[in-house]
Amino acid sequence: DKPSVTVLGLGAMGTALAGALLSAGHPVTVWNRTAAKADALVERGAARATSPAEAVAASQVVVACLLDYDSVREVLDPESLRGRTLVNLTNGTPGQARRFAEWAACQGADYLDGGIMAVPPMIGTPAAFVLYSGSATAFDRARPALNTFGESVFLGEAVGRAALTDIALLTGMYGMIAGVLQAFALVTADGTPATDFAPLLTRWLNAMSGWADGAAKQLDSRDYATGVVSNLGMQAASFGNLHHTADEQGVSSELLAPLGRLMRQRAADGHGHEDLTGIIEILRKDDNA
Ligand code: NDP
Repeated sequence: DKPSVTVLGLGAMGTALAGALLSAGHPVTVWNRTAAKADALVERGAARATSPAEAVAASQVVVACLLDYDSVREVLDPESLRGRTLVNLTNGTPGQARRFAEWAACQGADYLDGGIMAVPPMIGTPAAFVLYSGSATAFDRARPALNTFGESVFLGEAVGRAALTDIALLTGMYGMIAGVLQAFALVTADGTPATDFAPLLTRWLNAMSGWADGAAKQLDSRDYATGVVSNLGMQAASFGNLHHTADEQGVSSELLAPLGRLMRQRAADGHGHEDLTGIIEILRKDDNA
C-alpha cells in the first residue's frame, strides 16, 4: 500500500500536486486556508483536515505549497513537526530556504526544499521536473510520492541549491519572454497578426537554443576569445538596429536597453574581438577569481 501524504495549500499548484498523488493511489490529506478549495479533491477521495496541525499529524510526508515562505511559517504549528518529513515546494530564495531549513530542524523535522519546474497542467506528466535539495534521507523517504509530480531531480544536501537553480532557470525564461514580447511588439506595430509571425519566431528560438551550452564552456574557462563566430564589436554595432527599428515602429526598446549598454561597455573596454559571453565579467559584482 502506498504511504499517505499531506498537502498544505490548495492553490492552482497545490491542487495539481494533490491530484497527482490521488491519481497514483496515495491516501492524501489536504488543508487549505479557504476550505472550499478542497471540495473537488475530497470528492475524489482526499481527507479534509480542519487545521494545519491535524493535516500534519495525518502523514509522515508533508508537502507544503503556499504563496511564499512567510505563509508556510504562519500556517505550520511548530509542535506538530517533530519526526515529520517536510517538503516545501513554495517558491523562494536560497537564503529563505536556508533559514527555513534551520527553523524546521529546530522543530525536529527532516527538511527537503524544492522548486517546481512546471505549470499546474504539466504536473503528473513527463514534461514536469522538480528540483530538490536538503536532507537526503527526507528525499529518499518522500521520493515515491514526489515522483508522481514529475521527474525528481536531487541537487544535493546544500539546501539552497534547489531555490538557486529554480530562480536561475526562471531568469533564463524571463529573459526569453522579454525578447519574445519585444519581437511581437515590433512586427505587430503595423498590423501583422502575431500568429503569422509566431512560427518563424519559434523556429529561430529553437535554432538558437544551443547557445547556452557553447556559452557555458567559455564561462568555465573564462576564455571569451576562442571559437568566436559573431564578435562582440559587430554585435554591439548591429544591436543599434534593434533600437532604431523599434523607434521606426513606434515601440519602446526599454527591455533591450540594458543589454545594449553592457555590450557597448564591454566592447569599449577592449573586448570587441571576443564573444558576447564576456559581458558576465561586468555582471559579477564580487569577483573572487
Ligand atoms: P495560488 O495563488 O493559486 O495559491 C496560493 C496558495 O497560498 C493558496 O492555497 C492560498 O490560500 C495560500 N496562501 C497564501 N497566503 C496564505 C497565508 N498567509 N496563509 C495561508 N495560506 C496562504 O498559487 P499557486 O498554487 O500557483 O502557487 C503556489 C506556489 O507554487 C508559489 O510559491 C508559486 O511560486 C509556486 N509555483 C507555481 C507555479 C504556477 O505556475 N502556478 C509554477 C511553479 C511554482 P487561499 O486559497 O486561502 O487563498
